[in-house]
Amino acid sequence: MKVVPSDLEIVQAHKMTPIGEIAAKMGLTEDDFDYYGKYKAKISLDVIEKFKDRPNAKLIDVTAITPTPLGEGKTVTTISLTQGLGHIGKKVICTLRQPSLGPVFGIKGGAAGGGYAQVVPMEDLNIHFTGDIHAIETANNLLAAMIDTSILLDNPLNIDPMSIMWRRVFDLNDRALRDIVIGLGGKENGYPRQTGFDIAVASEVMAILALTTSLQDMRERFARIIFGFTYDGKPVTAEQIKAAGSMTVIMKEAIKPNLVQTLEGQPCIMHAGPFANIAHGQNSVLADMIALKCADYVVTESGFGADMGMQKFMDIKCRQSGLRPNCVVVTSTVRSLKMHGGVGNIVAGKPLPKELTEENLPALEKGAANMMHMIKIAKGYGIPVVVSINRFITDTDNEINLLKDKAKEAGAFGVGVNTAWGDGGVGCAEVAELVVKACEEPTDFQFLYPDSFTIKEKIETMAKKIYNADGVSYDPLAEKKIAQFEELGLGNLPINMAKTHLSISHDPGMKNVPSGYIFPIRDIRASVGAGFLYPLAGAMRTMPGLGRAPSAIKVDIDKDGKIVGLF
Ligand code: ADP
Ligand code: MG
Repeated sequence: MKVVPSDLEIVQAHKMTPIGEIAAKMGLTEDDFDYYGKYKAKISLDVIEKFKDRPNAKLIDVTAITPTPLGEGKTVTTISLTQGLGHIGKKVICTLRQPSLGPVFGIKGGAAGGGYAQVVPMEDLNIHFTGDIHAIETANNLLAAMIDTSILLDNPLNIDPMSIMWRRVFDLNDRALRDIVIGLGGKENGYPRQTGFDIAVASEVMAILALTTSLQDMRERFARIIFGFTYDGKPVTAEQIKAAGSMTVIMKEAIKPNLVQTLEGQPCIMHAGPFANIAHGQNSVLADMIALKCADYVVTESGFGADMGMQKFMDIKCRQSGLRPNCVVVTSTVRSLKMHGGVGNIVAGKPLPKELTEENLPALEKGAANMMHMIKIAKGYGIPVVVSINRFITDTDNEINLLKDKAKEAGAFGVGVNTAWGDGGVGCAEVAELVVKACEEPTDFQFLYPDSFTIKEKIETMAKKIYNADGVSYDPLAEKKIAQFEELGLGNLPINMAKTHLSISHDPGMKNVPSGYIFPIRDIRASVGAGFLYPLAGAMRTMPGLGRAPSAIKVDIDKDGKIVGLF
């Protein structure tokens, strides 16, 4: 059997194409981008206007079944489908999120694919890249500093310090910063107040970067941010404290999408990376807008399963931007569906349990219900669905055939096997051909709910149609805030559900397709600048922590200055 080297070994042995040549494949000239070294560039937003009369490419959203904590290969599928479409002669670009440094030095590893389906320069884009996340931290923390200073220096806006929702951010897993007291050390330093840090990718600034359509739009979104309330309960915005202009200036380079490449030389625009639970988990709208004018096919990834990332892709990203997909690809794995069928418990950082590497058709048949539900959700948006089976070496032909039957039974337009992790783009050629055909099908795009639904009507529609629940319960806090948001005129915003990605429900222990339960809403918060409300179903961590053996322990530099131990 073929031995696949480590991700880092593969990319270090690979010879990259100079980024100017990649840009030229998109029809960009030197005026259209800025070099960030030999293999990275930032694309000017002017190209949107310049190419506005060109037709849009076909847009393909890659999603998945309910994953295990290891991930089921959405990024691998996104990149390999790009390589596969390139292999069959199509002009294609992929758009992806930029990884956060938290997981890079924490546990999950990088987010630039794996095996022979990767984006390069992998070390750079996982670590600092072009500095966008640093800009986000700075813009976010400037607002935080202005809020605390304004309260100390006469509090002209009458801000109630107990009402401040705006936290500081930082892009590492640092549990000690989750709950802190600031302003200690005397009158000079402000009033002591309890607050905390979130990871930078969980910030509203990141969500805004991902949803904005221009520098002016970004300025307006920053202006709308509600960071707290006055003593008499009125919202206070970033515009009122006069922070929005400076925040935009800090972000003026970060707003330009970053150009890199796949291992097979297709362009990849990697830009923005909001959390997929409390935010919407998609790369930037701007990356997609540019890509759609510079290729015939654009492949993008939405975070977690179809109940999470894809639903947010459709009802938040597409709703706000006007983007419309032509095809949804549901990444499915035998190992995860067997787990949904009741065998083996996958724990991140531990070897795969034996039950998941042995053929087990009854478990797979049972767990396939999860995939079938995801296909149904995707079809509900009026878009054709292709299932891509991400094949692992332990999968048997019987298992693959069973999944194919189940995908067809659920109404998938097509189902193919993807072996690109070990084989590169040629391993995704079958799926690529199916996607090309699916993109020719007529679509009948519709949102899950109209803007005009009340907050509760929206949540209930999601709970019943997506999470397969019987109804919704609300804690008193959630009830109070829903009433408050409706009164503030925020009821027309779409809903960004903050829930676990490890179950269709709110409870990570409920596998497969949970039914006969009530979906509980604990709290609800507003990201007015990003343009969504996010109800919390369960406890959501916005600052991860490191474990006993984080990846950071393994990463080093060798005597030649080469990075070792990074994935
Ligand atoms: P997701 O985007 O769904 O979270 P990724 O594409 O990042 O998942 O894949 C998760 C991990 O699994 C990565 O380390 C990737 O290299 C690995 N992986 C994905 N597909 C395969 C496969 N077919 N065989 C072996 N490893 C794989
Ligand atoms: Mg991914």
